[in-house]
Amino acid sequence: MDHKIGVYIDTGYGIGEALDIEALIAVATDEFNVAICKAEPYWSDSDKLAVIKNDIATEGLTAVILAGPSPRVFQQEFTFDGVITERINLREHVVWSHPANDEDTQMLAQDYIRMGITKTTKYENRPPFMEPVDKSILVIGGGMTGMTAAIEAARAGYQVYLVEKETQLGGWANRFHKVFTGKPPYDEIVDSPIHEKIKAINASDKIKVFTGHRIYSISGAPGMFDAVIRPDGPWIERLVKEQNEWLAAKKARESQDKSEPEPAKSSQEETAAVPEETPESPDFPHEEVRVGAVVLAAGWRPQDPSTYADLGYGKYPDVITNVQMEELAAKGRLTRPSDGKEVTSIAFVECVDENTEHPLLYSSAVGCLVALKQAQYLRKANPDGRAYIFYENMRAPGQYEKFYQTMQDDPGVFLSKGTPVTVSNGSSGLSVVMKDTLLGEKLRVDVDVVVLSTGMVPATADSAIVNLKYRQGPFLPQNPYGFNDSHFICFPYETQRTGIYTAGCVRQPMDFQSCETDATGAALKAIQCVELVAQGKAVHPRAGDESFPEIFLTRCTQCKRCTEECPFGAYDEKPDGTPLPKPTRCRRCAICMGSCPERIISFRDHSVDMIGSMVKSIDVPDEDAEKPRAVVFVCENDAFPAIDMAGINRLQYSPFVRFISLRCIGNINMVWIADALSKGIDGIMLIGCKYGDDYQCHFIKGSELADYRMGKISETLQRLVLESERIRFHQLAIDEYMTIPKLVDDFMEKLAEFDPNPYKGF
Ligand code: SF4
Ligand code: SF4
Repeated sequence: MDHKIGVYIDTGYGIGEALDIEALIAVATDEFNVAICKAEPYWSDSDKLAVIKNDIATEGLTAVILAGPSPRVFQQEFTFDGVITERINLREHVVWSHPANDEDTQMLAQDYIRMGITKTTKYENRPPFMEPVDKSILVIGGGMTGMTAAIEAARAGYQVYLVEKETQLGGWANRFHKVFTGKPPYDEIVDSPIHEKIKAINASDKIKVFTGHRIYSISGAPGMFDAVIRPDGPWIERLVKEQNEWLAAKKARESQDKSEPEPAKSSQEETAAVPEETPESPDFPHEEVRVGAVVLAAGWRPQDPSTYADLGYGKYPDVITNVQMEELAAKGRLTRPSDGKEVTSIAFVECVDENTEHPLLYSSAVGCLVALKQAQYLRKANPDGRAYIFYENMRAPGQYEKFYQTMQDDPGVFLSKGTPVTVSNGSSGLSVVMKDTLLGEKLRVDVDVVVLSTGMVPATADSAIVNLKYRQGPFLPQNPYGFNDSHFICFPYETQRTGIYTAGCVRQPMDFQSCETDATGAALKAIQCVELVAQGKAVHPRAGDESFPEIFLTRCTQCKRCTEECPFGAYDEKPDGTPLPKPTRCRRCAICMGSCPERIISFRDHSVDMIGSMVKSIDVPDEDAEKPRAVVFVCENDAFPAIDMAGINRLQYSPFVRFISLRCIGNINMVWIADALSKGIDGIMLIGCKYGDDYQCHFIKGSELADYRMGKISETLQRLVLESERIRFHQLAIDEYMTIPKLVDDFMEKLAEFDPNPYKGF
């Protein structure tokens, strides 16, 4: 669409000295006929901003382009109400990373001016997605975490619905004897603060509590979730069974061919796990609430104790789990389960899950802390008592180190690395043999009780908790460890279903104090969600983005690629098989835009046409000039800031590459590759986030999908009679910015082995 564009070139930061500014102005005015083009140092200064604002008012500018520092800085300064703002990075990506007053550096800057203006001309003026929203918050789980989240959200003024499956609030905290203080000097344990929490819940007129209830279903989207809350009953077992069957069928389908994306399925097939019984059915006691966001604080369960049979669990009554130890201590007297004799010695065996037939795939610090705490139960109950703690790795994070030190100093506590060999009947109780101890020898201790540190399994791993009525199924997607995270490094609390935030042990094993902190964070995320959605804006990580995907449905072929590949379940499906967008579920990653073979999904400020036009705007010298050209598509999350950091560190690399920033490398659309090659671009590289279990793409699978799509590009290259090495995919972490020069230069060296792209000049 037509925009009245003002271009403001920053001559500060060395830009004015390194580039021919008049030539840049000539590109903007002569090639694009922009309304205004001015060059001054430091446009972020208040007097310069006043000039831009005055131009907007007097000249009627609809778009402003700032060519200077990275778009990652001065974001607040360069925001002008009702006016499109585009940024061109002449600082980090040009003059800080290339020689001054050099022909190739100048050509680079001019291409970025061309691409920036071309991009701006393609902006559409479309309004944000606005629907009436409800700002209430649903909290699932009435333990320490859930209650804290409910209290914090209510204190901030939000209506809260708190659902707890047990008949009373408190969860595990009701059964635990003591907890850590979480306060200096960090060497004490105290009574659980659970009763104060329950009192605060009951005193709040903003919290409606449903004890003895569970979530029957959640449908809708952020700002407009409809939750059906139902009294606990046998229905839940049926639901779990159905969902497990659904999951098994899904896994079987996926394992059929791991190299191919999932085959498209009908919406009926996908939603088969949603129970047939509905709230409209007779004899269906339930309540329905509309909420804007959900905090999932369903907690954990101990690993099935039968897993520890080889350590005497189930055979000897005095071999107990650490959960049973809490219950024993809470009775007020530490007595041996087998005969009621007062306990004088305990062996705590840590990390037992690592040695079982069905190990959890993770360990946690919580078990170690619990053993240290329970050793103190014994020492306080019996000053002559002896506690033996055997561990693979002792973990006492943060200030808990102080508690660990306190227990190390206690002469009645013996700590050693060690792996359990046998637990058997001893002379007066149990006999435990450990190997690989610090002493390097097998060690045998005779004790009254053996306490096994059980793993903590997130409640969502094996139980129907949220029961989503989504096209993508009833579960929150899980990582291999059973947790529902979206990006465990950068986005704690997020799940792959927008508007649903996890807190506490459903997110990762944690102690009570950490659960409280976590609950506050998740409540804040839920509040951010309802507030942003009410303004028509995206949530994290593109918080504030007012664009959303729109589909030109008349050309849709019902291929279901968008529905399948959206990592956040933002598309339901219409009866005719076309996608049914749920814009408030959308994180604006634009992966669907890249996946659509018909190229009919676009955002107002990000489209296939826009990026393709940017590629086409690059000035490609003819082959005699010996100036190759490469386009490097980069993810805005890690790769783009890494390139910025390379510039900040004045790292130098080939001036023949042009970076184009994408929301996620999963945006990549094959047509851009074809466009670039047809124009004579010699090579194309994609730089996305590292993907996999240990380092996740910011949009879950965008990077992996891009890599997969690149594997299919050979057909295009064959058609153009070009070498496959002209296309390269690379995974980059943000802290790998030092590798940028080598990465870029190696690629250019590779391209130099080939003849120039024969399509130059077409
Ligand atoms: S932009 Fe991303 S989150 Fe939104 S619908 Fe497309 S793929 Fe899903
Ligand atoms: S919008 Fe595109 S990707 Fe989605 S179903 Fe239609 S054609 Fe396929």
